[in-house]
Amino acid sequence: MRTAFRRIGRALAACALAAATALVGVAATGSAAHADGCYTWGRVLRQGMTGDDVRQLQIRLSGYPGYNAVLGLDGSYGPATRSAVIRFQQAYGLAADGIAGPATQAKLYELQDNDCTPVNFSYAELNRCNSTWSGGAVSASTARFNALVSMWKLQAMRKALGSVSINISSGFRSYSCNSAVGGASNSRHLYGDGVDLVGSPSFCRLAQQARYHGFRNILGPGYPGHNDHVHLGAVGGWSAPSCGI
Ligand SMILES: [Zn+2]
Repeated sequence: MRTAFRRIGRALAACALAAATALVGVAATGSAAHADGCYTWGRVLRQGMTGDDVRQLQIRLSGYPGYNAVLGLDGSYGPATRSAVIRFQQAYGLAADGIAGPATQAKLYELQDNDCTPVNFSYAELNRCNSTWSGGAVSASTARFNALVSMWKLQAMRKALGSVSINISSGFRSYSCNSAVGGASNSRHLYGDGVDLVGSPSFCRLAQQARYHGFRNILGPGYPGHNDHVHLGAVGGWSAPSCGI
């Protein structure tokens, strides 16, 4: 909590500074991105760089790995990260140069909340089991982090589907929550990255689109027990035989 408050405090201080600068007439140009309560990059990122700031970029680009792929969160800006940046830039109509400069960073600030979740998803939606994220197959902090990465994948998927609402019926589950709903004993819900989607768009559309956004465990129509929702997770296989592929 203290860290969160400190970060928010820093962001507010940066905003106050920006306002003061504007008052004396030295208006910031487009290159000065507005500070964010979650995370602010301090440099332009490009291929060949390494660091936690690269990893922070990779987390937010988890939904842009390309078809049937997963973007590594290793803090190393290699060709796969560059390609993910290009896909993100194309999705938002930015100049697609593969460099995470001011315009790309500004778009990412727009897309993130102060707790670092993407604007259209929340930790509460990804955990209807307990408030602590404990009792699953991994530590509470790992489960929460895995859920964060799934949210960024869903944010990319949502954008690709035309900025539609995506309805989550289940996310993280402790072992007791998982057995209460009859979940598989090795369910990705136990790891925090599993999400079940209901409602619209159609389940086949959701399942097929998910293959472009970093989900490897996709179960949908025709797979036993999955005719009333689509299951997405980070690790596993695809099975949605009624969707034709
Ligand atoms: Zn599921």
